[in-house]
Amino acid sequence: MVDERKEVEAPREAGDAESSPEGLDPRPVEEPARAVQETRPQLALPDFIPRAKFSTVLILILISILGVYILLGYMEWTNDYDPDGVPSRSAASAAQVEVAMAPQTRPRRVIILLVDGLRADFAGDMSALGRIRASGVSAITDVGTPSYSRSSYAVISSGVRQDRSGIRTNAFHGTATVDSIWNRARAAGLRVEVVANLSWWTELWPQGFDSSTLATMDNFPQLATEALRGNADLLLLHPTIVDYAGHERGARSPMYQDAVNSIDRLLANWTNGQIDLSRDALIVLSDHGHRWKGGHGGPEHEVVTTLSVASGVGVVDDGRLIEKASSDQI
Ligand SMILES: [Zn+2]
Repeated sequence: MVDERKEVEAPREAGDAESSPEGLDPRPVEEPARAVQETRPQLALPDFIPRAKFSTVLILILISILGVYILLGYMEWTNDYDPDGVPSRSAASAAQVEVAMAPQTRPRRVIILLVDGLRADFAGDMSALGRIRASGVSAITDVGTPSYSRSSYAVISSGVRQDRSGIRTNAFHGTATVDSIWNRARAAGLRVEVVANLSWWTELWPQGFDSSTLATMDNFPQLATEALRGNADLLLLHPTIVDYAGHERGARSPMYQDAVNSIDRLLANWTNGQIDLSRDALIVLSDHGHRWKGGHGGPEHEVVTTLSVASGVGVVDDGRLIEKASSDQI
């Protein structure tokens, strides 16, 4: 996203500054293999191989299946094995996220604020977000690679990582083939709305939203506040002002800090007005960070590390910090 304003006007021509090489096949990798399998002709046995009895073949097949089953069981045991008898780090963090997010009661609605391009260290210094964190849960989150926006939206929406979702760069312009929380919520009869500075959400999941509002950076605060006064059960708010500043001037610039401050002020206003954490659930996420000199897409720590925050009804309220999580777990 070199210029978010351009993306709004002409999203099909947009791409990140360090767009990955063209030619990556966005389709799931299984498709060609399956097609080959389906069209493969039956092999005829040569005459010199003796014909075995059906029962003998059946026993051999059963023994083979049993062997594979035992082997897979062994591999799973060795993956989780830890000499100190504690689960592996990834297993532990996954369990932590699950416990922290386990709903005890149902919120009136769920609001997801996705702050595009917000680094974890800047998020950690936000004062309104800090107050929300103190009454909820936060998690230092690895967004995975490639750390582009569109691929990251797919991970956040589906829980499927970049290498499996088929959406690896911003050059993907089709409809997502992975399921999403937006589609699931609508299928369950909930009202799902989005207010964003990009039209990418409805491009990826055309059936995922009852209402979609494309905002400019200037009128985003007003349109998002109006949506918060509305009747959405699941509301996605997606400002790109921080990402835009990162691309324009870098994360070390006053422009980036000002953009972060503007989001913090919005959060302060909303949590004193439209968002009621005793009735609502609020989730604040980012799709990726930014390099000091601006840009993302690669595996740099400051780019793949974000801060995820959840607070309100259904979220534990002890201010705990999960030190290692990933976007697909969130
Ligand atoms: Zn960007």
